[in-house]
Amino acid sequence: MKLLGILGNPVSHSLSPLIHNAAIGELGLQPAVYTRLLVENGADLRSVFDAHGLFGGNITVPHKEEAFVQCDEARGLAQRIGAANTWVREGDRVIGYNTDAPGFMEAIAPIGTPKRTLILGAGGTAKAIAVAFSDRGWDATVLNRSASRLDFFKALGIKTATWETLPGGTFDLVVNTTSAGLKDDSLPLEKPALEDYLKRARFAVDAIYGKVTPFLALARQHGLQTQDGGAMLAAQAVLAFEHFFPGSERARVAQMMKDALQLPKEIVWR
Ligand code: NDP
Repeated sequence: MKLLGILGNPVSHSLSPLIHNAAIGELGLQPAVYTRLLVENGADLRSVFDAHGLFGGNITVPHKEEAFVQCDEARGLAQRIGAANTWVREGDRVIGYNTDAPGFMEAIAPIGTPKRTLILGAGGTAKAIAVAFSDRGWDATVLNRSASRLDFFKALGIKTATWETLPGGTFDLVVNTTSAGLKDDSLPLEKPALEDYLKRARFAVDAIYGKVTPFLALARQHGLQTQDGGAMLAAQAVLAFEHFFPGSERARVAQMMKDALQLPKEIVWR
């Protein structure tokens, strides 16, 4: 039995079991199953993974940086980003990958090249997105409520700010990578400051999926084109699935996962 799972806190909302199991079932890859495991303390991540005999997993909020630290080897983007969202067992070692960055870029591909981008939050997801933007030469500013996580971005030459040092100017794409709105109704930034950015922006994307967060609702009020994290979820999951089941047909897996999420064929902005 190939046991896979999503590990994080919270995980009750996660649609990863639905989409991975749909692809496993339809491709006839049993015996394999994808489950969910609540890991409250990030320090326990690896021991939970090992104790359950998982072959692979996806690591979500707030443990992606711990996932980087606790794997035996981080490869590709995970190595550069310092955060892993996918673990795969290779012999007696656990290899960490990051599929968030390419997943996000695929999800926002229809907007072309934005002039200036504002990333709210500075956790594992923000790192992945900021590195992807920087690789493309896009102008990115990372705005976090506290300064403690900003050194990573500064070292890469990415602009940073905190709620005390709000950046001025116009950003045409604003991305919420904070968990504000995931379990509560909070905004990722104090409302007057956020509204000031949204009034002048064209696109707003929230990494959170499955709901209209207060951030997305406010962006829609200001007439922005918006997208929740559904397309990103599907895109990063397809790449993770390839690590779990090498050789699987990417386009077919992508369609199965989109169908399971009831996502339209094309990425929709609304
Ligand atoms: P992390 O825990 O690594 O980072 C969270 C960040 O959010 C930190 O910078 C933190 O700031 C900030 N933050 C948390 N709460 C608030 C708040 N109330 N107001 C303002 N800032 C806040 O999380 P991840 O990067 O792993 O995940 C972030 C979100 O992205 C989650 O909601 C997750 O579900 C979603 N996600 C979706 C994916 C998809 O496929 N659609 C993929 C990956 C993530 P501070 O440093 O001050 O604590």
